[in-house]
Amino acid sequence: KSAGKSTWRLYQAEQDASREMVNRLTWNERIQQALANDGFVLYFQGIYETVSRKVSHLEALIRMRDPNNSGMVLPPGLFIPHAERSGRILEIDRWVIQQVIRLLALHPEMPPIAINISGRSFDEAGLPDYIRDLLVKMQVQPSRLMVELTETAALSDMRDAQRFIDSLRATGCTVCLDDFGAGFSSFAYLKHLKAHVLKIDGLFIRDLPNDHDSQVFVKAMAAMARDMGKHTVAEFVENEETMRMLAEFGVDMVQGFHLDRPSPDHPAFRVFKGE
Ligand code: C2E
Ligand code: MG
Ligand code: MG
Ligand code: MG
Repeated sequence: KSAGKSTWRLYQAEQDASREMVNRLTWNERIQQALANDGFVLYFQGIYETVSRKVSHLEALIRMRDPNNSGMVLPPGLFIPHAERSGRILEIDRWVIQQVIRLLALHPEMPPIAINISGRSFDEAGLPDYIRDLLVKMQVQPSRLMVELTETAALSDMRDAQRFIDSLRATGCTVCLDDFGAGFSSFAYLKHLKAHVLKIDGLFIRDLPNDHDSQVFVKAMAAMARDMGKHTVAEFVENEETMRMLAEFGVDMVQGFHLDRPSPDHPAFRVFKGE
């Protein structure tokens, strides 16, 4: 009976593994095709100064055009994890870097743009150089490029993340710790990762008006960041009551559906297209 049981287990494990492999293959193919055939598109969402509500900068958020040509786009949560596992994320991150630096070069009056870099790219020692060379080649002021790194991704290797951030800072880019507070060692990060901006995770912002613990956390985070000479952003701002609290707590910038939704044709671009 016990032999039967373990046989069943083995069979089950094999089945799971092969199903997983098929899934991965499919996504790998889609990602490969998207890289080869202009299958990715960037959406942009505004980050606003909390008090003046003026645009501070934009965040570029990647989407994949539906491979079935439905005209819809697929969110990054669907394909980024696969790309991270296969290593294709490095190519995706480079594509985003190219697109955004080109855009900044084309529109010198445009606000700065933030890009997201996967933790998988930290150990790619060449990436900060790649960014610097492109900025120089396209004659874009480095401070117009902001780089967001997710804390949970940095968790995997603090020393790589530290090196990565130091190189980016040396290049003159602005560095932001994304999803701050969502990981388990946020405070260790603060000590080792020298970021200019902390983006407080949406987890604490979503229910801010009704959640006392979140209020305590956000308030303390804003005060601490201020004393450390860092700026703060709150993501997932969905209503006016949250705006009011964030202003009261001294959170510098806000981002969320209450202000605007990510779009391929953000209003901040229209000025430059003469619309
Ligand atoms: P993130 O960088 O933390 O981006 C914020 C996410 O929250 C975005 O989802 C955005 O659409 C969503 N969001 C913004 N405001 C609100 C709001 O008020 N309410 C709610 N419920 N959601 C809001 P998105 O675009 O699906 O991106 C998800 C994640 O995928 C990003 O989280 C980022 O970690 C990753 N990602 C996005 N673009 C890229 C990219 O170009 N490269 C890499 N490596 N990762 C990316
Ligand atoms: Mg981000
Ligand atoms: Mg975030
Ligand atoms: Mg997030």
